[in-house]
Amino acid sequence: MSFRQFLNEMDSCGEVLRVKDNVSTKFDMSYVIKSFDNEGPILMFESVKGFSTKVVANLCGTRKRICKALGVDQSQLYPKLLEALKSPRKPRVLEADAFEGICEEPNLYKIPILTHFERDAGPYITAAVIHAKDPRGEVENVSIHRLQVLDEKHLAIRLVPRHLYKLWQNAKASGVDLDVAIAIGVHPAVLLAAASSPPFGINEFEIANSIMNNELTLIQCRNVDACAPMDAELILEGKISTTKEVPEGPFVDITGTYDIVRNQPVVEIVNVMRREDYIYQAILPSGAEHKLLMGLPREASIYEAVSKVVPKVHAVNLSFGGGGWLHAIISIEKQLDGDGKNALLAAFAAHPSLKHAIVVDSDIDVYNLVDVEWAIATRFQASEDLIVIPNARGSTLDSSADQETGTTSKMGIDATIPFTKPRDKFERAKIPVSVNAKKLVEKLLNISK
Ligand code: MN
Repeated sequence: MSFRQFLNEMDSCGEVLRVKDNVSTKFDMSYVIKSFDNEGPILMFESVKGFSTKVVANLCGTRKRICKALGVDQSQLYPKLLEALKSPRKPRVLEADAFEGICEEPNLYKIPILTHFERDAGPYITAAVIHAKDPRGEVENVSIHRLQVLDEKHLAIRLVPRHLYKLWQNAKASGVDLDVAIAIGVHPAVLLAAASSPPFGINEFEIANSIMNNELTLIQCRNVDACAPMDAELILEGKISTTKEVPEGPFVDITGTYDIVRNQPVVEIVNVMRREDYIYQAILPSGAEHKLLMGLPREASIYEAVSKVVPKVHAVNLSFGGGGWLHAIISIEKQLDGDGKNALLAAFAAHPSLKHAIVVDSDIDVYNLVDVEWAIATRFQASEDLIVIPNARGSTLDSSADQETGTTSKMGIDATIPFTKPRDKFERAKIPVSVNAKKLVEKLLNISK
């Protein structure tokens, strides 16, 4: 299934809200997206001020839509992702001549790229999936990076010291620039695979292909040695300079705070390949979609790691209040006291950016924060059930962490019921429900709507 097919399918399920009013890419579009952030529909901006291209946002803005894209229900989501991570499958790669769209001279000013927040340095591409090869062609990597528009042909790329950064360093050592394919408007499975973190050397396109049951086809770029999903809406062929750097930022990242200005490499765009009527995909930084795409692969890692130390993991939620990144709530079935703490340690090991983690019993709904707070209020004793780990490696996205080294204090809360205390003291009181009372409430709820 392609990006376009998924979008059409969502449209036929009533998940797409068409915005026919003329909307500016500078702040206005962001504001509209933000206003529909919580469980909101896909937004299709059909009339974009100064552009003839449509913009789609909030495509992967709910867990339900991501599950639909992957063809699984929520209970199968993590196993599906984990299975794909363990069984990468090489996708087909077609020659550039097979491309059915348009090739044209690059002009980034013709693309409706959003400026999101008040103090952002300018327009930023936020839904770009970037493929690159090691100079010797042995290692390939796919990842998501923010790209700041500098002029018609140049972007600044934020390279967090991870895999693409490593490839870029290898290119630098060989004295060459790094070829990249920048794909925008790709199937959610490709976005999720690119956001996941398999070991260096694993090609995330192969993970995506595995999630997509071998249906991913790639196309070789015309002017650079890199490839992109064949059905991407827009492909920018680029070269990351290994000599030219510029100040990049400020830019609002996942926590909704401004990331600092750093010197980052310049990407020169050398060619554009696109569908004739391409749709530009925007992801609002710190919006639900951003948090889900980044968070879900980490939830899967936490699910897997915690499953190894307790009998059963019910659910994991990297909650939105924690930026979908810094806070985890995990519901487990425990066998013995102490399992809760082992679950916390496993979670911290599985997701190094994790800062605060809460473990609850399986009767607590991890997506209902009132429920979680209630568990902490009635089942947790700080003197017994709290772990604090000072000076651990955390996330630089956390404003309170050491911005130089990323070290932070981690806190784990074991809010599971202790076996040493009488269980009936922890019972959540229930009201017996008669058929009549149930019907009455349904009627009253309908009236109040
Ligand atoms: Mn990688």
